[in-house]
Amino acid sequence: MARTAEDIHEKYPLDGKALRLAADGTPSMIGLECGDCGTKAFPPVPVCPDCMSENILEFNLSDKGSLYTWSVVHVAPSGWKVPYISGYVDLPDGVRVFAHIVGTEPEQLEMDMDVELTTAVIGHNNDGPVETYAFKPVLG
Ligand SMILES: [Zn+2]
Repeated sequence: MARTAEDIHEKYPLDGKALRLAADGTPSMIGLECGDCGTKAFPPVPVCPDCMSENILEFNLSDKGSLYTWSVVHVAPSGWKVPYISGYVDLPDGVRVFAHIVGTEPEQLEMDMDVELTTAVIGHNNDGPVETYAFKPVLG
């Protein structure tokens, strides 16, 4: 049986409406496309952020993108691992996603470098590990 984002949500405080996991655990982010104006965005919300339409369609966003920019964060809420890297990733779908950048050191990052979707434990809270979507550099 495929793990779903709802399954993760039971174990971790991950928004179950933004991420889907395939049977092998491969994540995909769920985007929204407005059926009226064509705006695409992430995460999906019930109302178009551009025209306020409720005619919203969900689709799987690309799992690869390019790193637009990033920052190293040294101060975070209690339980979060620091330092961590947060950044904006541009997806070919036309959506810019704010996410943790993992599996690398800040010195290795370059603007527009190829990154791909993954999941990562970014900290812990009273319920256990906090897992969320993240991006990592494409190697090779
Ligand atoms: Zn719209």
